Amino acid sequence: MRVPLVDLSRQVAALRPELTAAVDRVLRSTQFILGPEVAAFEQEMAAYLGVRHAIGVASGTDALFLALRATGIGPGDRVLTSAFTFFATASAILNAGAEPVFADIDPATYGLSPETVRAVLAGHSTPHRRLGVEPDTIRAVLPVHLYGQPVAAHQLTLLAERHGLLMIEDAAQALGAAYRGHKVGTLGHLAAFSFFPTKSLGGFGDGGLVTTDDDALADRVRLLRVHGARPRYHHHLVGTNSRLDALQAALLRVKLPHLEGWVTARRGHAAAYTRYLATTNRLTVPITLHDRFHCFHQYTVRVGDGRRAGMRDHLRRRGIETAVYYPVPLHLQPVLRHLGYRPGDLPEAERACQEVVSLPMFPELRDEERSAVVAAVHEALATEPVR
Ligand SMILES: *Cc1c(COP(=O)(O)O)cnc(C)c1O
Repeated sequence: MRVPLVDLSRQVAALRPELTAAVDRVLRSTQFILGPEVAAFEQEMAAYLGVRHAIGVASGTDALFLALRATGIGPGDRVLTSAFTFFATASAILNAGAEPVFADIDPATYGLSPETVRAVLAGHSTPHRRLGVEPDTIRAVLPVHLYGQPVAAHQLTLLAERHGLLMIEDAAQALGAAYRGHKVGTLGHLAAFSFFPTKSLGGFGDGGLVTTDDDALADRVRLLRVHGARPRYHHHLVGTNSRLDALQAALLRVKLPHLEGWVTARRGHAAAYTRYLATTNRLTVPITLHDRFHCFHQYTVRVGDGRRAGMRDHLRRRGIETAVYYPVPLHLQPVLRHLGYRPGDLPEAERACQEVVSLPMFPELRDEERSAVVAAVHEALATEPVR
């Protein structure tokens, strides 16, 4: 049996007539950028999340970049973020002209560790002192809800408030997740979502969304996405061209009403994986916390003691795809060498890069496929020699 990491064709097949009708509607309208489809989608997203403003942009990367730009963060400013995330989290900070400060993660949730953040902000963190990070140059904290697991938002918010920092969420992997009953993307001053095709609400190309409850910040994001112009050809800010296509909005509007059901399906698969995989102590299943609603963008386990490569090889031979998100922490990326981090500076992020592996996870995953994954994992771990 072949089990893909994700199979988008099943969702497309189930929704094909509605998707085709949405495309036809946009083709007839000839309004291809922004316009009524995007405005309607923005309203529907704002209502779903329970937030005042939702602003469609060209990608999740741009959503992060424009959220940062809207706050005025730029040259001379630092932004505290996780070392264990997709590169876009850091590139958005750098492209805004600011400098990322990487903090370690909580090994159980893979989110920004409040303890490390507290130490950096207090000037007590040894690596950050060596790097010359002055806490008063830090303007914002940018947590990432990695794999769909919400970060420790309450503790991070308290720290941000105490130090007068903005909080901007990278919610690209976490649409549908919640923390203490509040949807992810409503926990900070601004948040960024992605509609990359494999995300929990996937588009048919690139797309992204900025959310905020702040009218002034929302207004700046809306200006920045159209080259700072209002009205057209009258420019108030140096922005960029970053708008959501009407086609993407129309197609995403077809999918949005299904999101909750898909998240329920993902959580069902996750619960089943956990039930059958928690029986071996050779891997660590994702943690379940009573105050967090994980949307399981990824189902990611930890396989330590150098067993990960062997397990992945075994699954590959059985036709089962797996992935490592991410093999290199951001503080050790070649392009960021000039920041001065060294191996050992952020040990939990570095260890996670050696140990994590994501298993097939998508709403339409079949029970027999999931069972094949579980069986192959058990086989692999039993046959793998202990070093
Ligand atoms: C996908 C992703 C992004 C970027 O989104 P794009 O739409 O691909 O630009 C940013 N941060 C994280 C954590 C992501 O997973």
